[in-house]
Amino acid sequence: MTNSAPAPADPRLDPLSRATPAEAIAEATGADGKVNLLDLDKAGLEALFATIGEKPFRAVQLMKWLYHQRVSDFDQMSNLSQKFRDWLKASTEIRLPEIVTRQDSTDGTIKWLLRLDGGNSIETVYIPDGKRGTLCVSSQVGCSLNCSFCSTAKQGFNRNLTAGEIAGQMWIAQDALAHLKDEGVKHVVTNVVFMGMGEPLLNYRNVVTAAEVFMDDLAWGLGKRRVTVSTSGVVPALHRLRELTDVSLAVSLHAPDNALRDELVPVNRRYPLEELMPACKDFVRNAPRRHITWEYVMLKGINDQPEHAHKVLKLLRGIPSKMNLIPFNPFPGSGYETSSMNQVRRFQDILAAGGLRTTIRKTRGDDIDAACGQLKGQVENRVRRLDETVRVHKASDREASRADDGARS
Ligand code: SAH
Repeated sequence: MTNSAPAPADPRLDPLSRATPAEAIAEATGADGKVNLLDLDKAGLEALFATIGEKPFRAVQLMKWLYHQRVSDFDQMSNLSQKFRDWLKASTEIRLPEIVTRQDSTDGTIKWLLRLDGGNSIETVYIPDGKRGTLCVSSQVGCSLNCSFCSTAKQGFNRNLTAGEIAGQMWIAQDALAHLKDEGVKHVVTNVVFMGMGEPLLNYRNVVTAAEVFMDDLAWGLGKRRVTVSTSGVVPALHRLRELTDVSLAVSLHAPDNALRDELVPVNRRYPLEELMPACKDFVRNAPRRHITWEYVMLKGINDQPEHAHKVLKLLRGIPSKMNLIPFNPFPGSGYETSSMNQVRRFQDILAAGGLRTTIRKTRGDDIDAACGQLKGQVENRVRRLDETVRVHKASDREASRADDGARS
């Protein structure tokens, strides 16, 4: 098991496309020449096995061992030929992030600090709630978007996680939960939310591959709608997301007008509400069971007034929606305060009276700092802060100019 940094993404690759099988295999190959099986979804595994003349059903067999039987020792995979097993041993591996610490909250929430390479680490949180078990995964080391109320933002950005590093968070959590089960407590991940560190839509291709692995019945089998991508509004990627996957969507709104949103969620300066809202409408169009979950952090005196609630109602009119109000989780030096519970309820009442389903997010794992916006890994070398953001912007600019050319001709 190695733990070195993955090769930087090839700048020629389109950051808004899915990896081709050949690209996926190249990206999954570590410095030791071994392919990390966690980096590949079913199509990727089929392509990998095709390179040695093995049939696609080998991918099905292998996935059943890995994900259904939870067997990762190739020698125990009795329906695979000895030759194929030998090849798997020599050429592939399950490369997991390394667990640095695990903290268990009194409310059952578990938080892991995971080391990825050199000095980089990320956090992953498991949140049990009745029959539901939600895993909150990270998609980047740090974050480049700089939302003013988020402590992850203060740490800067280093790089995107690989698909295997995202999927590996699930592997680690399920392993731990299987042990809890042995102790007589039944816990399992039923839902995944991309609400840990990072902006998932700035790591589009790896997030989509990992989401496929979470949803695929041959892998973790969560099914549609149980995997939620949360974004602050990277509009070009949002358009693509709808075409390529069955994930659910959460959008971090936090403000009902551009002036305030520019301040709280600076990516709004690039993709203002006039672009974000149509993209969200498109996402749910012709998809009867789809809705959008809006996230709205409650900041005292900033965005929590009745006028804001009325503007929210107007903005979301006609979009199948659920609103999730998140009491601000304070951190030193943030400059913000949490709205009082009375204020949050007043805000909720206005939204509910306007016909918007509105819940107040329970703060979980408070005693282990596992709440929204409190996740801290270790982010090395922050100079690359905006690389990935700029790559996505450039790709979207190229697309816009192609569309203009098309419209003109
Ligand atoms: N980048 C993605 C996902 C990460 S954060 C996004 O922006 O959606 C998950 C949610 O927690 C987001 O809605 C984020 O705005 C919110 N959040 C961040 N910091 C917070 C804080 N200090 N208190 C409460 N919510 C916070």
